[in-house]
Amino acid sequence: MIIHNLGYPRIGSQRELKKACESYWTGNTTVTDLAATAAAIRLQHWTLQQQSGIDWIPCNDFSYYDQVLDTSLMVGAIPDRYRPLTAKQLSETDLLFAMARGYQRDGDDITAMEMTKWFDTNYHYIVPEFTAGQHFQLFSRKVIEQFLEAKQAGFNAKPVILGPVSFLLLGKEKTAGFNRLSLIDQLLPVYLEVLQQLAAAGATVVQLDEPCLSLNLAAEAVAAITNAYTKIHAAFPQLHIVLASYFECYGSHLPAVLALPVQTLHLDLVRCPSQLDDILQTNIAASQLQLSLGVVDGRNIWKNDYARSLILIQKAIGVLGEARIALAPSCSLLHVPCDLDDETAISPEIKNWMAFAKQKLQEVKELREIIQGNVALLTANEDALRARSVSGLIHRKPVKDRVAAFTAADASRKSSFTVRQGIQQQQFRLPLFPTTTIGSFPQTDDIRQLRARFKKKELTEAQYDAAIEKATIDVIRWQEEIGLDVLVHGEFERNDMVEYFGEQLDGFLFTKNGWVQSYGSRCVKPPVIFGDVSRPADMTVRWSSFAQAHTNKLMKGMLTGPVTILQWSFVRDDQPRSATTNQIAWAIRDEVVALEKAGIKVIQIDEPAIREGLPLRRENWAAYLEWAVQAFRIAASGVKDETQIHTHMCYSEFNDIIEHIAAMDADVITIETSRSQMELLDAFADFKYPNEIGPGVYDIHSPRQPGAEEMIALLEKAAATLPARNLWVNPDCGLKTRKWPETKAALTNMVKAAVAMREKA
Ligand code: GLN
Ligand code: ZN
Repeated sequence: MIIHNLGYPRIGSQRELKKACESYWTGNTTVTDLAATAAAIRLQHWTLQQQSGIDWIPCNDFSYYDQVLDTSLMVGAIPDRYRPLTAKQLSETDLLFAMARGYQRDGDDITAMEMTKWFDTNYHYIVPEFTAGQHFQLFSRKVIEQFLEAKQAGFNAKPVILGPVSFLLLGKEKTAGFNRLSLIDQLLPVYLEVLQQLAAAGATVVQLDEPCLSLNLAAEAVAAITNAYTKIHAAFPQLHIVLASYFECYGSHLPAVLALPVQTLHLDLVRCPSQLDDILQTNIAASQLQLSLGVVDGRNIWKNDYARSLILIQKAIGVLGEARIALAPSCSLLHVPCDLDDETAISPEIKNWMAFAKQKLQEVKELREIIQGNVALLTANEDALRARSVSGLIHRKPVKDRVAAFTAADASRKSSFTVRQGIQQQQFRLPLFPTTTIGSFPQTDDIRQLRARFKKKELTEAQYDAAIEKATIDVIRWQEEIGLDVLVHGEFERNDMVEYFGEQLDGFLFTKNGWVQSYGSRCVKPPVIFGDVSRPADMTVRWSSFAQAHTNKLMKGMLTGPVTILQWSFVRDDQPRSATTNQIAWAIRDEVVALEKAGIKVIQIDEPAIREGLPLRRENWAAYLEWAVQAFRIAASGVKDETQIHTHMCYSEFNDIIEHIAAMDADVITIETSRSQMELLDAFADFKYPNEIGPGVYDIHSPRQPGAEEMIALLEKAAATLPARNLWVNPDCGLKTRKWPETKAALTNMVKAAVAMREKA
């Protein structure tokens, strides 16, 4: 039985790659230094995987920035705007960084390629750009070079390449009137050339990833896959192709996938264990196909349940025999941190339930050893899992009882929106087009240093509080001066909108070094939700009531919603995600009620991650949306009619989920719309969205200072689309990444725009 790995985190256990890239970008080191660090990381990871007994060690999973961008370079899909750079004979590395990050130098000013989320992960890839009649040619030979580099170091590695159909599907047409899938005939010869060169260099096993098979694909896309792999097989009948998709079932694509002339088919049995039965029930035994069983979770940080994995493995062996089975993690380990051994501060009890990338490879190896008769390994695993299942650190009866006692009334405001709106308008007496902001104000170096020094205990709590108080009072005075209607306290006390709450809730832990690549050199360190979530004390009341006490205007309380907290954390795998979200929702509800009690009349519950939580397959959307919306409603419904609940969502399409957004029943929703020129409002208008809405009137992602006129134009467009009395005026998102001068200019103009709209009304 072969054991293999689909990809290893490339950032390095000490974020060596991040540091090397950033130091190269700032000009402190040379491209040779960078290449040396990268080669050292690759060698270290190959060696580590060999020590874990991995038979097919991946190569080309390494990337300076992103594997999809690497593929664009491999096939020469380099947008025309970078042509001046190739003429300048920029190195391949510099060209790659220019495409990823833009290029402003020596008179050239070329924008970066777009970035978007990789399936349902928090990893972002660089979106390939396609034009009608595009020509491809082998450009970057990185995959061949890295195979040879591994060979030289003594590893017969398995090159990993993003497959041709997914590469096209993940990209975007940049000219109108053609379908990017039609480029497959031009593209495929480059893939054949790459495979040819790999085979010539001695590669025997190649992994081609077609993760788009986890989506609902049109018949033509599935046909393109059949066609492509038939041609690949015809050209290289001797090459062992591993076809991998992950994050979902093959679902309705299964019959086509099983008919592909590939040697091994990889299954994500963590996300979709049921597909194994479906496959084994076909006449697969009569074919030659081998199965790679992805039983170890590549998306989470928990120890594998060996007993459960073994049931699947044994079942497959029963039908196909050991020789036709390979074992692997469910997907590339890119999405988990490197090494649990580096975590010295986690309680040993909890640490014994966890596994990072390095430990996951060990698990794959141990599973094989158990099959071969090493029972002691199974017993040790069962002991750890049993300890977890009954641990007092996880299970809190009051939390479970409270969630279980849920009734429909808990997820409903006392009165309908119309009644609430009447009460709130009478109480608040806000003008038409009321102005507000999304929560955070610029997080200057001073503010960041303040928090860092407090964390290092260089400041006493009293000193730290005094400094945050001053920043808060300053921002309140300034908001009053320019005439904003509903103020915020600025969020100066917060590091991050999820971490801030996770640190105060029970059931969360934080790692020291649990970094995961988000995009390029950017890494995130998601909190770990390990147990039942509860709220031992008030979380935001201190700062919100402090702020309210310093103004006669309305001060908006500011919370992060349950779905966003869930989405941006590693979540426990011993109960459904919905159950964990519900627990968080009750904790947030208590905070909302506590804020109301403290005299806060407007409370915002941010849910920027609602849309990104959508399952990959449409058929699973309804179930998710039901519990996600309900969790928000539980969080929001503990208050009186006179308390106004806001929510905020960042740029996303609303067309296909508008009824669920409406079902959240927030009194006010603020959304990011300026970059779409208010087009996103059409969905709200078509649906006759009844509640109040604040479409962002300027883009906060750039330092550009918008004039009042352009915001008036956007507001007029909004007022032509939706009833004016329901409209709010606000920026697209929080202002924490901006600088003060541009923030002051933009918000001053924003208030002017609102005043102008009132005068016209
Ligand atoms: N209240 C948060 C802020 O203003 C919202 C951030 C977000 O939407 N991502 O920063
Ligand atoms: Zn936002």
